[in-house]
Amino acid sequence: MDCIFCKIVEGSVPSRKVFENERILAFHDIQPAAPVHILIIPKAHIPTMNDVAAEHDALMAEIFTVARQIAAEQGIAESGYRLVNNCNADGGQVVYHLHLHLLGGRKLGAVTG
Ligand code: 5GP
Ligand code: ZN
Repeated sequence: MDCIFCKIVEGSVPSRKVFENERILAFHDIQPAAPVHILIIPKAHIPTMNDVAAEHDALMAEIFTVARQIAAEQGIAESGYRLVNNCNADGGQVVYHLHLHLLGGRKLGAVTG
């Protein structure tokens, strides 16, 4: 499968990791849109938010736990941050391996684009 994030999980494509466990990986976005721009992904290849199912409930909860921890470690928990998931074409999804963007470190603009 030709998935750039699966390659990052495997290690065949390098990344600047900030968190890893058996199920989840987080790394700096290669084109940061804010001073803090980290991608949080399940290691399993789930293409989009539409493919998330009940069996992923624990994984999804853990992804949000990891997001909170990283926000605190990055020093943006109190100043604030945004968690974004882009789904499919109209959502602006480019990489079809589920991910959350953790954005912060500056005042972000309006959500609607
Ligand atoms: P999407 O639009 O799919 O929600 O966002 C995909 C994100 O992945 C973009 O912000 C893009 O900069 C990032 N990205 C794409 N390829 C790579 C890569 O090879 N390494 C890293 N670290 N980020 C990537
Ligand atoms: Zn993948």
